[in-house]
Amino acid sequence: MIDLLVAGGGPVGLAAAIAARLAGLDVTVLEPRSGTIDKACGEGLMPGALPLLARLGAYPVGHVIAGIGYRDATASIDHRFAGGHGLGVRRTVLHSTLAARADALGVVRVQGKLRSLEQNNESVSAAGIRARWLLGCDGLHSSVARLTGLALAAPLHGRRYGIRQHFMTAPWSDLVEVHYGSSTELYVTPVAADMVGIAMLGPQGASFDTAVAAVPAVADRLHGAETLSDRRGAGPFRQRTRGRVSGRVLLAGDASGYVDALTGEGLRLGFEQVHAAVASIVDGRPERYEREWRAITREPRMVTSGLVAWAGSPLRSGLVPAAARVPKFFGAVVERLAR
Ligand SMILES: Cc1cc2nc3c(=O)[nH]c(=O)nc-3n(C[C@H](O)[C@H](O)[C@H](O)COP(=O)(O)OP(=O)(O)OC[C@H]3O[C@@H](n4cnc5c(N)ncnc54)[C@H](O)[C@@H]3O)c2cc1C
Repeated sequence: MIDLLVAGGGPVGLAAAIAARLAGLDVTVLEPRSGTIDKACGEGLMPGALPLLARLGAYPVGHVIAGIGYRDATASIDHRFAGGHGLGVRRTVLHSTLAARADALGVVRVQGKLRSLEQNNESVSAAGIRARWLLGCDGLHSSVARLTGLALAAPLHGRRYGIRQHFMTAPWSDLVEVHYGSSTELYVTPVAADMVGIAMLGPQGASFDTAVAAVPAVADRLHGAETLSDRRGAGPFRQRTRGRVSGRVLLAGDASGYVDALTGEGLRLGFEQVHAAVASIVDGRPERYEREWRAITREPRMVTSGLVAWAGSPLRSGLVPAAARVPKFFGAVVERLAR
């Protein structure tokens, strides 16, 4: 029997496996996909994510992000991070960095999908592997959350999705630019000296091409630029869980519940949860993780839910002008989310 089985070899699952190995646990990661894993993501690592990765000894190569700028046709507001920079990192680079570190530490990575699980007082079994603990890091549509009964039905109304693609062009800003359209947001993230990632967030069926064309400041720069990746989508974003712990099973990352990509702190939160989950597993006190998960996510969940509600309301067009009128408040909100 091993100490920990991690379901899902995305960034949060690999970070969990590394943290657990560093704490002296035997760890196996179960992931259905082979090779270097890509995923629809805005790819902005908030400043607070970087020390969490450094603690794991897995610091990826990326492009410095100095802050966040909100724009619409009538107003704009920029905030430069006060306490250190963020990093735009291709998901493939993030995956390779974390996977290499996990391999170097002796994490066992197995290709396979968790389809069922059984647990008793001493162990959890899934995919033919028996472990003292199971950590579900299997993303937005988590099988682990569903099989443990921790998943709640996702809301049917106001569903939002994301699509991303990369373009070969030198970044024109050291900020993540967020362009608010009438129903979609376009995120421009510098990820390399010659590459930007464009992520569109919006309702089901929103067109990436239409969203880009509606923002001349972006469309003009991308005109004629070579595409460096296929379009990939994800969603619906909002996923809810009733709790994060069921016996010997814990949830982290998107699997533990997700609000929206609007505020771009998903990876930072996932890495923070991982450190808390592993510490509570080492101490054999999973109930402590539930408390810490709530503390880690309370404020971001509140801010992101509020912004999503505003962005989905008839007052949407007032969001950027309102932020521009209160730059100190805007800056304070960004700083809270970036920590
Ligand atoms: C359009 C978009 C833009 C975003 N922008 C940002 C941003 O700029 N900054 C940021 O921090 N976050 C952003 N996010 C959020 C971020 O992408 C997620 O929070 C992050 O990927 C969560 O990582 P994870 O490891 O929990 O899940 P994932 O990255 O989804 O990884 C889950 C893994 O589990 C595997 N899996 C699935 N089912 C099973 C199973 N049954 N058994 C075993 N394995 C399984 C999958 O193959 C996958 O590899 C964005 C998201 C979207 C969609």
